[in-house]
Formats: sequence, C-alpha cells, structure tokens
Amino acid sequence: HVPVIAIDGPSGSGKGTISQILATKLGYHLLDSGALYRLTALSVIEQAIDPENAEAVAEAALNLDVVFEPQPDGEQKVLLNGQDVGVKLRLDETSAMASKVAAIPEVREALLTRQRRFREMPGLVADGRDMGTVVFTDADYKIFLTASPEIRAERRHKQLIEKGVDANISHLLKSIIDRDERDRTRTVAPLVPAEGAFVIDSSNLSIDEVVQQILDFIGF
Ligand code: C5P
Repeated sequence: HVPVIAIDGPSGSGKGTISQILATKLGYHLLDSGALYRLTALSVIEQAIDPENAEAVAEAALNLDVVFEPQPDGEQKVLLNGQDVGVKLRLDETSAMASKVAAIPEVREALLTRQRRFREMPGLVADGRDMGTVVFTDADYKIFLTASPEIRAERRHKQLIEKGVDANISHLLKSIIDRDERDRTRTVAPLVPAEGAFVIDSSNLSIDEVVQQILDFIGF
C-alpha cells in the first residue's frame, strides 16, 4: 500500500508551499495537479487550440510531454517539450485558461491516469482541488486548506513578484474570486472538502503552523 496525503483547496491557500514542505519532510513524491491543468492551458494557448473544442483540448492533455524535476529546495522545475515553463505557467492568462479547461470533463478524465501514476513508494503528497474527492478517494489522509480571498490575493502577489512577474493586486483579487466561483460551481469535480477532510483555515496561520497541524493530524 502506497500512502497518499491529499491536500485540496483554492489557490493561495498555501497548498503548494505546504505540500512541498511535507513531501520533503516525509521523503514522499509530490503531485502538483494544478500544474497539469496549467500545462494543458499553455498547450491550448501555444497551439492555438479552440478551448471550446473539448475533444481537441482533451487530446492536448493526454499528449502532454512533461517532465517534473524536483529541485534541492523542494521546488519543481517543469519542462514542457523540454522547455522550462515555470514562469509561463503562473501567468494570469494561463491561470484563467487553466480553470476553463479544468471544467471540461474529458480533460479531467484524460489527466486521471497521469495523476495516479505519481503514487509510488514511499508515498505521495497530492496537491490539488479534487485529490481527496476524485483522484485518490482512498487517500490515507485528506486535508482541505482555505484562506480568505484577500489573503490569497496578497500571497499570490508576493509569489509573483518574487518570480519577477509584474502583477496588480486588485486584478489578482478579482481573478481569484472569479476563479473560485467557477471552481466551486462547476458540475465536474467542484471544489468542496472531501468527506471527513481535516479543514484548516490558514488566513491567520504561518506556513510552519499549518505544517505542524498537518503533521499532528497524520501522527508524524
Ligand atoms: O492550483 P493551481 O492554481 O495551480 O490550479 C490551476 C487551476 O487548475 C485551478 O484554478 C483549477 O481550475 C484547476 N485545477 C483543478 N483540479 C486540480 C488542480 C487544479 O481543476 N486538481
């Protein structure tokens, strides 16, 4: 049995950073499932695929030529067709397209097997929106991380600035609220806590405090 820790929640809840820290601490593999939707979005944009054409978008998702290279600092380098797309993946245009393609059932289906292949010994930290509800329903631990939209916009802003990407905070807040709404109300894999998930609101918690709560929860 390969243990899975599913960490779901909206963007800016701290999921990404916390999943990286946990994976490093536990020596587990890491699945950044959002990156797969972002990569699909990037392919759609770069190959000028019609985002309304579900079949064509699903085909792009199925054929992603992607390599995740874990870095010593816990970050992952993402190579699409051999090209480092780390910055492009975080652009607002890519984010918006990602949540659009993520609402296509055929795309979610196309990415299912690829996501499950990340489950390897000694274990997996799976970061996403539907890790506990769809992809790894038998996950050993399910965590749902949230934070207020304002805090999430601030965090994303800081993250983008650190990556050298220029960003406008009120624009980010609006796109976060829009994206949340789409993610929560879509008919496929809506963003809701899995049954029995441990829910953590990280608005007033430091990263270390959240990590500690999770480690306590999983009894590590
Ligand atoms: O987590 P991240 O912000 O990178 O995800 C980008 C987009 O991909 C989200 O807005 C969401 O629409 C979609 N997504 C998803 N299911 C996942 C991970 C991400 O629908 N498991």
